[in-house]
Amino acid sequence: MNDLHPFIAGLPKAELHVHHVGSASPRIVSELAAHHPDSKVPTDPEALADFFTFTDFAHFIDVYLSVVDLVRTPEDVRLLTFEVARDMARQNIRYAELTVTPFSSTRRGIPEVGFMEAIEDARKAAEAELGVVLRWCFDIPGEAGLEAAAETTRLALDLRPEGLVSFGLGGPEIGVDRPRFKPYFDQAIAAGLHSVPHAGETTGPQTVWDALTALRAERIGHGTSSVQDPKLLDHLAEHRIALEVCPTSNIATRAVADLELHPVREMTEAGVLVTINSDDPPMFGTDLNNEYAVAARLLALDERGVAALAKNAVEASFLDPAGKRKLAAEIDTYTASWPATSAG
Ligand SMILES: [Zn+2]
Repeated sequence: MNDLHPFIAGLPKAELHVHHVGSASPRIVSELAAHHPDSKVPTDPEALADFFTFTDFAHFIDVYLSVVDLVRTPEDVRLLTFEVARDMARQNIRYAELTVTPFSSTRRGIPEVGFMEAIEDARKAAEAELGVVLRWCFDIPGEAGLEAAAETTRLALDLRPEGLVSFGLGGPEIGVDRPRFKPYFDQAIAAGLHSVPHAGETTGPQTVWDALTALRAERIGHGTSSVQDPKLLDHLAEHRIALEVCPTSNIATRAVADLELHPVREMTEAGVLVTINSDDPPMFGTDLNNEYAVAARLLALDERGVAALAKNAVEASFLDPAGKRKLAAEIDTYTASWPATSAG
């Protein structure tokens, strides 16, 4: 099979499942750490590279919390957000729905209005200066329970930043039943936000059903265990409910034991709309281009197949119809101009 990396690198892409703090690359963390010399995070690039070397899930949580601790002021929020967009622009990501967890920041003392202004300011600058269109998914950190749900709903609906399009639920699934969050999702949906909870990453297909019925999910974050239930796969395929698949994340968190056993093949064979995403890319030692390369290998795709995956993300996005047509056309133009490399 030919090397798809150059094709993937230049392909215009949309990303639908990627976390704000979880996207802080070593470069960004070192900038933030330089602003806060009292933090325990190293600023020296080599020490930082070691710090970012994934060892196990507990280490991932340590790194993640250290980065959370570096984001203390609206200026830190702005820097993080804009620099995440810069890393996206380098990968030819044109559109991203970035999952933001405002509860974690406001609870740590960042003023809520300042937080919203910072992300919006970064969003506008990213679009104007980098050509990256950002939209927000505000997500409830499930481990913080209903208090976090109520606060996230209030922040989303009362302060509603212009770029906000969706409402999510993340964190652990075990012990965090989806239906409990129904009243908050009902409010968010009534206010016009799309429902995109994580489900079926670390628990079985019933959690995905719960996300669909109780939280009226329009896409599912991960949905890995959906393949255990053929009826569920049929339902997802029939209703064009996309799965936000993040292969490397699934291995890093051990949601899937081995990349070769990743169920993305069963998902596509069942006709489910599969999108490829990076989740917390630097913390899992990946980026979106690498996730596309992994998916291409697992699904035995050529350039056209990879372009079709990229178009799935456009279809499943919350872009308006004109925005979807424009990005899909960019993908088609790019693919048509690519030299034919097939030997056959
Ligand atoms: Zn996630």
